[in-house]
Amino acid sequence: MQDPVLLTPGPLSTSLATRSAMLRDWGSWDSAFNALTASVCRDLVDIAGAAASHVCVPLQGSGTFAVEAAVGTLVPREGKVLVPNNGAYCQRIVRILGYLGRAAVVLDHREDEPADVAHIDAALAADPAISHVAQVHCETGTGILNPLREIADVTAVHGRGLIVDAMSTFGALPIDAATMPFTALIAASGKCIEGVPGMGFVIAERDALEQAAGNSHSLALDLHDQWVYMRKTGQWRFTPPTHVVAALRAALDQFREAGGQPTRLARYRDNCRALVDGMHVLGLQPFLPAEVQAPIIVTFHAPADAAYDFSEFYRRVRERGFILYPGKLTTVNTFRVGCIGAIDAGVIERAVAAIAASLGDMGVTPTASA
Ligand SMILES: *Cc1c(COP(=O)(O)O)cnc(C)c1O
Repeated sequence: MQDPVLLTPGPLSTSLATRSAMLRDWGSWDSAFNALTASVCRDLVDIAGAAASHVCVPLQGSGTFAVEAAVGTLVPREGKVLVPNNGAYCQRIVRILGYLGRAAVVLDHREDEPADVAHIDAALAADPAISHVAQVHCETGTGILNPLREIADVTAVHGRGLIVDAMSTFGALPIDAATMPFTALIAASGKCIEGVPGMGFVIAERDALEQAAGNSHSLALDLHDQWVYMRKTGQWRFTPPTHVVAALRAALDQFREAGGQPTRLARYRDNCRALVDGMHVLGLQPFLPAEVQAPIIVTFHAPADAAYDFSEFYRRVRERGFILYPGKLTTVNTFRVGCIGAIDAGVIERAVAAIAASLGDMGVTPTASA
């Protein structure tokens, strides 16, 4: 039987070429592996348009490890971080700040409301002690897109640092350090670049990183130490995720050959459109207004029918070959469907058909509870 298609925002479905790149063992001391790491880092910095000013520091682990490493390394212990909060991944940054003992100012928003640039402006003006803004680009908890360019501008005007969690957008939405100033931007191998999970990376301003020695509370998550060691030796500190790096190299090759970020965005937009249109025909409505929906993952209202049960729905859709994602909202009953990964609109259309058939089997009339 074929593996199910992952309609989840990481891990996601990868191409055969990417998976095949893992059929080889690499020595961590070997110069061929070091060259592989260096080439991956070079490409990642280029995708962010940041080669003149920033460096890429890779880190073992899932994306959250890299977020925690970036915050712990780049925010001084006496620093203070403003977090515009409109969802689960913003709240995760707030939790990280709590663990690290860094002061936080949380700017709460509704979950269907993009981060408000005027409020950020006012908060920065009101509190000169805020050293950094930590902004999630696409809040994957709902799929909402935050206005990163405007937030970067206002943060720069106030002379503060900007740490961007671009985990679910890097490679798909345009990000350019030259026109969108940031101190650090965090993403991971297993999202829109379509590698396999296991490695995060931080694209950090060289100057900020140089000044960050001694900030980190943690050896394993000290990005400055990782960077200094890697610059000196070409190697990772501690065992590198060799197969993940090899798969990421293959994924980056395919990304470039296909036309890079604009092509990826176009494919994800097609996927998102096919999904929203197809679900609309079934009577299932997105949680977010279309203007703030990123083409990454879509939250749908669950059908308002007593026969609906997510785990039963999930099981039936999985039997038909597609893996869905539960909702992350506490107040509204929802489920999520990812648009990212090595899939096209034809796959999405088949997924919508599987969703229709599964709801039919359950006796659910898919009129959403919107
Ligand atoms: C996936 C993701 C992360 C990292 O999550 P992990 O489970 O640690 O990989 C962080 N922020 C956003 C916005 C994400 O989408």
